[in-house]
Amino acid sequence: MSQQASAAGRAFVIGGGIVGVCSAYALQLNGFATTLIEKGVPGHAASFGNSASIGLASVPPLGMPGMMRTLPRMLADPNHALVIRLRHLPQTLPWLMRFRRALAPARVDAIAAARAALLSHAGTAYESLLAEIGRTELIRTTGLILAYESRNSFAGARAGLALRRRHGIEVRELDGPALRDLEPAISERAVCGVHFPIVQTVTNPLDLTEAILGAFRARGGRVLCETVRGFETGPAGVSRIITDAARHECDLVVLAAGAWSGALARMLGERVSIVAERGYHIMIPAAPRMPAIPLVSGEHNVSISTLTTGLRMTTMAELTAIEAPADHARALRIFRAAAPLIRGLDLDTTSPWASRWVGARPSTPDSLPVIGRSPRHRNVIHAFGHGHLGVTFGAVTGAVVGTLARGETPNLDITPYRPDRRFDGSHLGTAR
Ligand SMILES: Cc1cc2nc3c(=O)[nH]c(=O)nc-3n(C[C@H](O)[C@H](O)[C@H](O)COP(=O)(O)OP(=O)(O)OC[C@H]3O[C@@H](n4cnc5c(N)ncnc54)[C@H](O)[C@@H]3O)c2cc1C
Repeated sequence: MSQQASAAGRAFVIGGGIVGVCSAYALQLNGFATTLIEKGVPGHAASFGNSASIGLASVPPLGMPGMMRTLPRMLADPNHALVIRLRHLPQTLPWLMRFRRALAPARVDAIAAARAALLSHAGTAYESLLAEIGRTELIRTTGLILAYESRNSFAGARAGLALRRRHGIEVRELDGPALRDLEPAISERAVCGVHFPIVQTVTNPLDLTEAILGAFRARGGRVLCETVRGFETGPAGVSRIITDAARHECDLVVLAAGAWSGALARMLGERVSIVAERGYHIMIPAAPRMPAIPLVSGEHNVSISTLTTGLRMTTMAELTAIEAPADHARALRIFRAAAPLIRGLDLDTTSPWASRWVGARPSTPDSLPVIGRSPRHRNVIHAFGHGHLGVTFGAVTGAVVGTLARGETPNLDITPYRPDRRFDGSHLGTAR
């Protein structure tokens, strides 16, 4: 099957999550006849169930120096949010080795700088995109609160706060009463915390993806419900995309398949380091108090945010296979422990959750996304591996994809995100 060629050519985006949808829209703006291929329903994988945060203060990477010392304790605790499934250790071990190397202090600093650089474009990229499609109401500047139940555990957050401050992020430290003045839904449990005023929140992540997808369709974009199974290559790169339904002739391919991207990259003869880092959520449509400012429990690693559909609690970083059986029971234990941070919310005495969900973050060991031209195929652009920040980085990634597709240089240095790196922070030019 072939699509009518436009002046720029026929572009195919694989993956209908927030990153794929933003990329498809940007390609269309740049004159490509663009097709989005999605094996399920667009916007219903990781981009559906996340915490809805445009995390403009999320400078620190997932792993901080010294983490190896606390890791055994975290992994032994059945109620901890971090889980490494031993059954899938053969797949995750190489990733974990790179993750460990990326914890060296100089590498953490360099990774944080690379995250800060991309974050500095993330908010403005959404502003332009949402203004263009007339949906600016989908993202609001709410700020974010990181709340602690003990000053001891708050001390553990110090290094991350210092890193943020070094990159110019405003960090307001508050005691318990000041937290409650700011957000009255916070209970007496919180003794101290921090407020990041810069953070924004999506009113509902699915609405965001669907709004951009709607604009893409309205401009003539095509969406196919097919599963990509392979590629045919020629002298110019990928010549055809093979799906379960057809063979599509193409001039440009964008790989934006989230946690599935590693397997597709392997089909292209490329090795990227990416694992499924699964997270869980529950929705509570009628919580006694709905916080206007989203908050994160520092002790339990639970995010709590108010969406248009109710209160959403998210947690867990579970390294496992994408399709492994879900452990909702563990997630619920963690939600129960964090719930008392909100006044009147008690998951022990009531069962107020309407739905529960599990989804896979596409995570790299160096906490940086993979954005850039494929080293092997000139007409393939990679746009995946956004880990905890895929919603945040959706619009800026799309804008970079559009610029690369035009054959131009983006207005930010994308070498930190290049696909052919070693994924342990060593490509950032730091010593061990
Ligand atoms: C609990 C949780 C909380 C989070 N909170 C936040 C947050 O607050 N802020 C933030 O910025 N990020 C957050 N994230 C991360 C964010 O959700 C992800 O990084 C982001 O959604 C990834 O988007 P994506 O488009 O790359 O992938 P996805 O949304 O997973 O989309 C990939 C798509 O590709 C499709 N696909 C895969 N293989 C194929 C194939 N062979 N053929 C066709 N289609 C295919 C899939 O069906 C899927 O729809 C959170 C994640 C979780 C799990």
